[in-house]
Amino acid sequence: MMIKTLSLMAGGLMLLTGVAVQAQDFPNKPVTIVVPFAAGGPTDTVARLIGQSMGNALKQQVIIENVGGAGGTLGAGRVARATNDGYTLLLHHIGQATSATLYRKLPYDALNDFAPVGLVTDVPMTMVAKKDLPPKDFKELIAYVQQNKDKVSYGNAGIGAASHLCGLMFMSAIKTQMTTVAYKGTGPAMNDLLGGQIDLMCDQTTNTTGQIKGGKIKAYAVTTKTRVPSLPDLPTMDEAGIKGFEVAIWHGLYAPKGTPKPVVDKLAAALQAALKDPTVVQRFAELGTEPVAANRATPEALGTHLKAEIVKWAPVIKAAGEYAD
Ligand code: ASP
Repeated sequence: MMIKTLSLMAGGLMLLTGVAVQAQDFPNKPVTIVVPFAAGGPTDTVARLIGQSMGNALKQQVIIENVGGAGGTLGAGRVARATNDGYTLLLHHIGQATSATLYRKLPYDALNDFAPVGLVTDVPMTMVAKKDLPPKDFKELIAYVQQNKDKVSYGNAGIGAASHLCGLMFMSAIKTQMTTVAYKGTGPAMNDLLGGQIDLMCDQTTNTTGQIKGGKIKAYAVTTKTRVPSLPDLPTMDEAGIKGFEVAIWHGLYAPKGTPKPVVDKLAAALQAALKDPTVVQRFAELGTEPVAANRATPEALGTHLKAEIVKWAPVIKAAGEYAD
């Protein structure tokens, strides 16, 4: 009995020492951040910016891997099943919270299968259209969509994407269904909007600001409560015609559940360093987004926020459910 207890203790000690060594040594090879959307889109842009800077802090290369499809759930599922050693991470947005309600059978538990690392950014969205869509302002757009209904095509990144959520809320508010076209991310959807193959899209400013400023697409409104400093002339949807409309997007960084705490803490410290990096701060500002304050780029803050967002969006999505595509 005594021998068994001793050997169990020794085993436990070895395990603990192993974790400590692993954490101390971490990272000793490149770290991969899975982006659950196609390259060239807004989530990809955020991942590449912070990935580069986190790599400097961790003194290791950070590789971005795009696993698009099914509104971000394919990539998230991939990370949920990855080895929990800190070398495979997920950068996701509000979809991590909304998918929990939108999908009846997610192959992972959005809340419990991940170890949160920290919040990353707050990002407004913009309702944008192909350059020659007739409506001149947001009020006219509402009337145009109500008149043309499913003749209007709306691009999104699949059920669970932020663009899906914004479209769902918009269609629910104006009680009209458009034809939705799902892409693996809004990077490719933007190409089709620029080419005029689709009419409308609601997407993060990180993907739309350059095209709006360059006059390549039409912008109607922002989805946040207040206007965006980088696009000061663009009204909020609330101001422009849909009272109370608000969709604010946030990004979070996750490891698989069970990732050793010292490893998660190292990743959080690298994230906090990246969010203070002047290059990242400046580029984020140009793209109409903001890094979160350091006290929100923590495992605790992301865990609490994710839980609150799942609770907040569940009834809203259920109420708008008849318009889910
Ligand atoms: N912005 C996209 C969405 O959630 C996803 C992406 O491509 O980053 O709609």
